[in-house]
Amino acid sequence: MRVRELQDMMHRIYFHRDSERGEVGTFDWLVEEVGELGEALKEKNMKAMEDEFADVLAWLASLANVVKVDLEKATTTKYNNRCPRCGQTPCGCSLLRKCK
Ligand SMILES: [Zn+2]
Repeated sequence: MRVRELQDMMHRIYFHRDSERGEVGTFDWLVEEVGELGEALKEKNMKAMEDEFADVLAWLASLANVVKVDLEKATTTKYNNRCPRCGQTPCGCSLLRKCK
């Protein structure tokens, strides 16, 4: 599944609710799911990790739908098969500084 297909699927399933909840409410849900992913990682619980990765991706797509950002286009434009900071693949940035 391409990123656009995922985002379209979330639009079909949830946009009527996401648009009503709005940007702030949907962002809050995304943050909640990121927290739950962190807990699953700490527990090293593979089933929980799979569930939470799916939820984080779903809520990220929902939020992008609410604010009308095309995730596939945005990500492809920014990353385009190389690190946007150093321009290399694989990234050659220092581990001491975060890529952005
Ligand atoms: Zn880099």
